[in-house]
Amino acid sequence: MIRRGMLLFAFYRSFYRQREKQLMAFNPFTMAQEQFDKVAAQLDLSASLRSLLREPMREYTVSLPVRMDDGSVRIFRGFRVQHNDSRGPCKGGIRFFPGETLDTVKALATWMTWKCAVVDIPLGGGKGGIDCDPRTLSLTEQERLCRAWIRALHQDIGPVRDVPAPDVMTNAQHMIWMLDEYETIYHGKYPGVITGKPVGSGGSLGRTEATGYGVICTLSSALQAMKIDIANTTASVQGFGNVAYYACERYGKLGGKVISVSCWDNKDQCSYAFKRQSGVNIRELRDISDAFSTIDKKKAIELGYEVLPGEAWIEQEVDILIPAALENQINAQTVAHIHPKVRIIAEGANGPTTPEADEVIKSRGIFLIPDFLCNAGGVTVSYFEQVQCNMNYFWSKREALEKLDEKMAAAFRNVYDLATSKNAYMRDAAYMIAIGVVAKSCLARSWAT
Ligand code: NAD
Repeated sequence: MIRRGMLLFAFYRSFYRQREKQLMAFNPFTMAQEQFDKVAAQLDLSASLRSLLREPMREYTVSLPVRMDDGSVRIFRGFRVQHNDSRGPCKGGIRFFPGETLDTVKALATWMTWKCAVVDIPLGGGKGGIDCDPRTLSLTEQERLCRAWIRALHQDIGPVRDVPAPDVMTNAQHMIWMLDEYETIYHGKYPGVITGKPVGSGGSLGRTEATGYGVICTLSSALQAMKIDIANTTASVQGFGNVAYYACERYGKLGGKVISVSCWDNKDQCSYAFKRQSGVNIRELRDISDAFSTIDKKKAIELGYEVLPGEAWIEQEVDILIPAALENQINAQTVAHIHPKVRIIAEGANGPTTPEADEVIKSRGIFLIPDFLCNAGGVTVSYFEQVQCNMNYFWSKREALEKLDEKMAAAFRNVYDLATSKNAYMRDAAYMIAIGVVAKSCLARSWAT
């Protein structure tokens, strides 16, 4: 008995050590370059174009001294990366994330270039981040951190240079603090320097919902193309933050049934999945979540949810998987756990699937809606927000969301038609379109031959 226990212990220890090693070895920027190289090799790109597009044009790493509430000063590391601005000012969110790295931000900035190109908005790709855990910072400390990031980078961003927006663990409140600091430095009103601002302070109606709603717009288009009635489908979602919540909301309104969502629990340092076969009720789950969308396990059990290890999100017997948390979630190890019933993966998150997992997904005939197409709704309404700020005339929510659907459906159709005509994987087709568009603008400027 004891021997069996020890053997089991040794097995799990080696399993988790191996997994930890694989996770540590993961580099999102290497993955972004690998994806690019694969498609670039099939396109007739010159060496100078390839060299230009596989690296960011500018990278900033800054130290941010912040006065903490107890009087001490802590130094945070901040990043901004501008991948390519041939089509317009760079655009992309800023993340607060513990252990954030320059390479993650470089990957995210690169994907932003492809995202703006695939939905045909006149912007380039940028991204920012701060290595911090906002869950352990007071609101005043978060405010000082936002202002410090702007003080460090104000000369390198701006309405006609590079425009940040919310992303993981940042929201409209952080954006307005950043805007306020920028406007204080430049003695004027510059609403175009940042998007995702609060409604009433230059924000666009529909921006909060935009990414999740856009995910479901592309999902509905995919289901229509596959002649599947959304009302007969079920989904499992990873995450319960901004993207996941509004994806669940819209999917539910269209008749789909989400049977599980998941979240990170910072106290336990692991993730949990919350499952109810009859369907999750996102409003009741939100009522028992904290500001960082961590769901209260005890209360969820009382409401009839099963609480499972976070990894269980991918094993569910559903038609649709929606990763909406972080990168590297569908990888060489986890892909094997996808249930045979799954027909579609809609990538709400950026970079959730590794190239090894892509090969398996392809061979199993699962239809994939790639991240930089699927989650482009956020940047699309951010662009609408810039347009409205420039005119100083704001649209109704209906108008913003109708325009969003128009853009998303057209982008999906473009990628789908190319994928069908070339018998290509959807990610590869999206890359072909995006690289083609960006290459053209670089060539027009004589940035490459
Ligand atoms: P968020 O901070 O609002 O939510 C993140 C969610 O992921 C939280 O529910 C958190 O608990 C969960 N999570 C984190 N680690 C997890 C894990 N290991 N297992 C399960 N859940 C985990 O962030 P968001 O804005 O919803 O962003 C989610 C993803 O979508 C990110 O990849 C982001 O880059 C991408 N994205 C966001 C936007 C946007 O407009 N916010 C736009 C495009 C893409």
